Amino acid sequence: MSESPISLFLVPTPIGNLKDITLRAIETLKSVDVILAEDTRTTGILLKHLEISRPLQSYHIFNEHKAVEKLVDRMKNGEVFALVSDAGTPAISDPGFLLVREVLASGLDVQCLPGPTAFVPALVNSGLPNDRFVFEGFLPHKKGRKTRIDSLMLETRTMIFYESPHRLMKTLEQFAEAFGEERQACVSRELTKLHEENVRGTLKELIEYYQNNPLKGEIVLILAGANEKLKEKDQEKEWKKEKKYK
Ligand code: SAM
Repeated sequence: MSESPISLFLVPTPIGNLKDITLRAIETLKSVDVILAEDTRTTGILLKHLEISRPLQSYHIFNEHKAVEKLVDRMKNGEVFALVSDAGTPAISDPGFLLVREVLASGLDVQCLPGPTAFVPALVNSGLPNDRFVFEGFLPHKKGRKTRIDSLMLETRTMIFYESPHRLMKTLEQFAEAFGEERQACVSRELTKLHEENVRGTLKELIEYYQNNPLKGEIVLILAGANEKLKEKDQEKEWKKEKKYK
């Protein structure tokens, strides 16, 4: 339990459509002493659009380890900060977790405002079950990639992945191999932007679609979980096999 005033606000920013900024996000950005930004140029453009003029300081994956201690000291001295990333909710596949952890450990408090993030609209648009889901973020590019995919073989919850357009085809093909080409999935591209596109189908259908259609922009890939019943059948088969060999 914490009764301290808030020293750090995590403020979500639009993932494409500038109208998606909330009134509270604007109010908070106007009220803090300093805005910590992943890219001060990108945030500078947003702040100009919102007519907000507050000091900006850079905070990104390359300086976050070093910066955290100094920032917490400044918070202890009463300065209040907002953290924003280039787009969406800070700390979701973006810098922020380290700072939140240290601020809380030092007895100060944080507050994350609700707001834009790419995975929620992608999950809901997919039409796949969303009562239970897992957020997998970015898959490792090389080392550990196959192990990570294999670890999801028996996952029955809907899975969410962030992916770059030039790696999507490889991922769809690896998924088809691991989970079967009939597994349902959805690719959400350019969410909230002019050319938003949600393509739903089996992995096989998605592979065929993207062989003939341009693949660019930002992407969230949603993958259906393993069918519970099939999973039980697979397990039954495994147990029977085991018994046979005992
Ligand atoms: N913090 C962000 C959030 O809350 O969603 C995520 C940042 S992460 C560095 C960037 C990735 O988010 C992109 O590579 C893409 O997978 C996804 N993403 C961000 N904006 C998107 C959009 N407009 N449409 C689809 N995916 C998007």
